[in-house]
Amino acid sequence: MIDLNGKKVVVTGGTRGIGRAIVLSLAGAGADVITCARGDGEAAQSLARELKELGGDHHVLKADVGEPEDIRRLAEEARTRFGRVDVVVHNAGVISHIPFEELPLEEWNRVLGTNLTSAYTLLQSMLPLLPEGASVINIGSRVATIGIPMRAHYTASKAGLIGFTRSAAKEFGSRRLRINVVAPGPIETEADVPAAVRERYERMIPLGRLGRSEEIAGAVLFLASDLSSFVNGETIHVDGGI
Ligand code: NDP
Repeated sequence: MIDLNGKKVVVTGGTRGIGRAIVLSLAGAGADVITCARGDGEAAQSLARELKELGGDHHVLKADVGEPEDIRRLAEEARTRFGRVDVVVHNAGVISHIPFEELPLEEWNRVLGTNLTSAYTLLQSMLPLLPEGASVINIGSRVATIGIPMRAHYTASKAGLIGFTRSAAKEFGSRRLRINVVAPGPIETEADVPAAVRERYERMIPLGRLGRSEEIAGAVLFLASDLSSFVNGETIHVDGGI
């Protein structure tokens, strides 16, 4: 059982899907969590209720990671509420499926901005709050280094996270910060998976099924804890062996 009692954590995009499982796992392990999403509707409210039941000092905020001003506000919230941040999980991400010839610049910029540029604004804003031993975890994607049609923008953003992470790991190792990527394969979330797509993945994945959000949270828990104290600049694929 991983014990994160007393750890202060920030997770982006924590109200749904993989991010929600990450937030609940970290809080369940004893960490205090600030998370954010663009929406403050039912997903955010039900997460706040679940966190309250778990106990601890948790906050669900409205912030768009694509907006540098929102990231600065998130860091300011973390500073005033926690004073420091031991673990940062950059999970917020968007995807779209568009043939490359039709891909508008606005969509390229939206996806790169949300998935990749935000990793830069987030790390820069959080740096003053990160003590020695802090762990930064970027959620990438298995497909980043494989490629897939109609996702050039998405895979570029997620592959960019790997280079970003490796360089930051080298630059901040002397401050005893660790930064890694968790790269999920196909994961079952609230989003509908068409039957044909599901069957194709089940054939492609040696374990014969899609992954669960909690299985991504498991790798995040490992990287958040001292069990991974010598893991730095790494990409951990959690993909059933696809
Ligand atoms: P979901 O779309 O299910 O959830 C995304 C979460 O992030 C929501 O809470 C959403 O809330 C929030 N979010 C989205 N955009 C922003 C933004 N600009 N600012 C703040 N919060 C935001 O995504 P998944 O759980 O499927 O994916 C989570 C991460 O895992 C992503 O980075 C994704 O690329 C990656 N991944 C997912 C895979 C999968 O199979 N699901 C496979 C490989 C990688 P709101 O909409 O209210 O902002």
